[in-house]
Amino acid sequence: MSKKSFLKGLTNLILDENLQDLVASEREILTETIIYIREVDCRKMFLSFGYPSLFEYLTKRIGYSNASAQRRIDAARLTQDVPEVIEHLESGEINLSQISVMAHLIRQAGKVSQKVDGETKENLVNTIAGKDLKQTEVIVSRTLNIPIQEGTKTKHQKDESVRFEITLTKEQWRKFNQARDVLSNSLPNGSDWNNLIEYMCDDVILKKDKAAPRKIRASKVFEAKTAKTDLNFDRDQVHLGREAIPKSIQREVFSRDNCCQFQSKITGHKCSSTWNLTLDHIQPVWAGGRNSAENLRVFCASHNAEVYREQTGTRLV
Ligand SMILES: [Zn+2]
Repeated sequence: MSKKSFLKGLTNLILDENLQDLVASEREILTETIIYIREVDCRKMFLSFGYPSLFEYLTKRIGYSNASAQRRIDAARLTQDVPEVIEHLESGEINLSQISVMAHLIRQAGKVSQKVDGETKENLVNTIAGKDLKQTEVIVSRTLNIPIQEGTKTKHQKDESVRFEITLTKEQWRKFNQARDVLSNSLPNGSDWNNLIEYMCDDVILKKDKAAPRKIRASKVFEAKTAKTDLNFDRDQVHLGREAIPKSIQREVFSRDNCCQFQSKITGHKCSSTWNLTLDHIQPVWAGGRNSAENLRVFCASHNAEVYREQTGTRLV
């Protein structure tokens, strides 16, 4: 039996279980790899193999991408000061991205003040275990007292594009992310930060600059925006010409639910995504469901589509 048809025959639960086993083995192999890389580093054998550095050896001979090689070197060198890293990597409490962030900040601290000692590194490793990447960055920057970069940098480039670097406060960053979530369905060119900024600028210019509207309305960004806006809330309405959900009800449901309400019957995990939010009818419109707050809930677009496939039996798999 081919691998593909073998997989098709598995239940979702077995598929999940097998994948978890595979990932555990993957972590085991990763830690083994890190131990090997450390040994190669200690022996400096890459020199006799004709490579000027461990990095060159890992990318040119072993075939890692630059980023993968650097992350593994960071981990291998950290294990020399903090051997416990190996156990944390194997259990999954710490991942390579965290180590890479930590190593980068340690190098940065080394440039501005003194070298970071082994004990500090050990404490850091124990503190970042079980944390996510954002928490890791904050913890390490705080412990090593990495200076906060402020001010704005702009750099004009050869195609007249501008490289723009700013520092936001915690609160400003939260608002920025919230705005991106709210607009996630309306950004016609994708949800990169530059598209978000362009969108917000168009919106402000349209509202505040009396001379500008005609020009902006003609721009592609806004054509796409007006075409897409209503689609966000209720697909039935657009596709089937159903009665629109009153704005007051939309607001009521969005402020009640806040995020995707989909909860898995298998794992109990609630999605809670704030990305691409839509309104879903609990009792579908085609089955007589009404546009009332009680019959509506907030789902992310992916879960809305998934539940729609389930209800209508059009699931692809
Ligand atoms: Zn969801």
